[in-house]
Amino acid sequence: MRTETDFADALATFDYQPLTRVVFGVNSIERVGELAKSLDARRVLLVTDRGIVAAGHAGRVQALLESAGMEVTCFKQAQENPTTKCVDRCVEVARGSAIDTIVGLGGGSSMDTAKGCNFILTNGGQMKDYWGVGRATRPMLPLLAIPTTGGTGSECQSFALITDEQTHQKMACGDPKAAARIALLDPALTLSQPARVTACSGIDALAHALETLVTKPRTPLSLIFSREAFRLTIGSLPRVLASPADLEARGWMLLGAAWAGTAIENSMLGAAHAAANPLTAHFGVAHGHAVGLMLPHVLRFNAQEPVVASAYAEIAWAAQLASPSEAPEAAAEHLARRIELLLDLAGLPCALDHCGAKPEDIPRLADEAARQWTAQFNPRPVTALNFRDLYTAALTPA
Ligand SMILES: [Zn+2]
Repeated sequence: MRTETDFADALATFDYQPLTRVVFGVNSIERVGELAKSLDARRVLLVTDRGIVAAGHAGRVQALLESAGMEVTCFKQAQENPTTKCVDRCVEVARGSAIDTIVGLGGGSSMDTAKGCNFILTNGGQMKDYWGVGRATRPMLPLLAIPTTGGTGSECQSFALITDEQTHQKMACGDPKAAARIALLDPALTLSQPARVTACSGIDALAHALETLVTKPRTPLSLIFSREAFRLTIGSLPRVLASPADLEARGWMLLGAAWAGTAIENSMLGAAHAAANPLTAHFGVAHGHAVGLMLPHVLRFNAQEPVVASAYAEIAWAAQLASPSEAPEAAAEHLARRIELLLDLAGLPCALDHCGAKPEDIPRLADEAARQWTAQFNPRPVTALNFRDLYTAALTPA
């Protein structure tokens, strides 16, 4: 059997500068005024969505900021999988108020909209000008990110994921200046998540831990975050699905999602995310669900590489999903089955044909998946032909 040293590419180099101050604690939202002040905020743009307004969180944050002496302008129309149009509307609102600080409050969509708005407001142009890494030349406004889902981990990443309104292409626009200066993690805010959001965002966080664990750019540093994110989410996801009011489990999911986001920042994602994006674009499958239903098949595909199987086995053993007496490939299979079980517990269909996809759709989906940015980071090279096999396996799994 290979050792961990073989897998971690031994002395892979890294250069890690934490960009985001992380503040964690139940009811830590009460500190939002003090934290915004530490960023010299006077006129704040609060970016959120209707569900967060209805849950009362937006009004509470606005009141806390105002009582700390700040003027607050609200954009409440952030949408799931935010598009360039959604960002443009947010920029229009921001331009009218000479804002100096942005607060993103909600799931990944609110935080991505806030980041997208920040790019255009400070650097001009359109979202596609920032597709890639490090394309903003001018300084950007400070961002305070407050996630209400456990979740995308967007609060710990410098990327905004914005979908082109015309082409449906999901653009990853990254720049160290776009990263939140502060991530405020209050587990109590995540209690209001609807069951479906808890399920999809939780599966997504778990998938982030598993994909970052084995990507080509992984480093000894990113592995720390991937492993801890996996440990927290694999244990807590069944708890939040069974008992939505379990605040401790909610807290571990929120923290696990943030650590998984930190792992993404340092090691990118893989084939499950590449395969998921076309399912969201063409069939409207929620991101976390799409990632979750492709993930078991990607785990099996990747586990054909012995060093990757060993990496999966190591965390499967640690989580007592497999016995160390079993071969790594068998342990990886236990891991894949656990993901399928969690989808089942969450009430999310494991079969692609339940989401509206038909066998004749597969060649087009596979071509699009192979062109996704994250495909290149998968530990095993993955071609359009491989994606055809992955989608076929997911269509009506055994
Ligand atoms: Zn994801």
